[in-house]
Amino acid sequence: MINMPYRFNFDLSNVSKSFFKEVARVAGEKDVHKKLGKRARELAAKLKIEQATGLDITDALVLLEDMVDIQVKNLSHRDRFQKAGKKVLLLPHCARKFMDNRCKARFDKSIPSYICAHCSEDCLISYATKLAQKKGYDVCVIPGGSCVEKILSNNNYDGVLGVACTEELRLGGMFLEKVGIAGQALPLLKNGCANTKFNLKSLSALM
Ligand code: SF4
Repeated sequence: MINMPYRFNFDLSNVSKSFFKEVARVAGEKDVHKKLGKRARELAAKLKIEQATGLDITDALVLLEDMVDIQVKNLSHRDRFQKAGKKVLLLPHCARKFMDNRCKARFDKSIPSYICAHCSEDCLISYATKLAQKKGYDVCVIPGGSCVEKILSNNNYDGVLGVACTEELRLGGMFLEKVGIAGQALPLLKNGCANTKFNLKSLSALM
């Protein structure tokens, strides 16, 4: 697959739960990689993805193929990830409730990460940070994929759970495979430069 940022925006936050169940089911099929294009096309038609998202069929297929691909990788790394000792959750800074000075997070460039100050109860980053810390994860809220290498080289993590756009997840996954760290990935439901969204229940299920 080509590692290029999407030229389109998507918002799956209003897509029915059956979409994600189907993606997970297809990902569990034997040899799904060999028939991904065909299965993605069938899924797109069955779940009316074009109508639900406003995407054209080509964009919908790119998105579906990438989501299935991520699920396949999650399944194959799941056991190793669950057995991993020290884990970190990497969150995208664009999911903060505010992207300006209303966000009270301090950026610590030595990590590098925003440190959430929990200034807003209804901020996804605040929820996810609290959830992960309760489960013993370190948490980094990062401005981009380029921070990942530094975070991993400064710490001995055995497992990485990442939330990001699918293309960033693909790049991150390749890097984790190279350095032999078990990874799990949660794709954003809504991409863009601000107000991005992910599903907290899905995040919790991956932890
Ligand atoms: S809760 Fe945290 S991440 Fe969200 S806006 Fe406040 S300081 Fe920023």
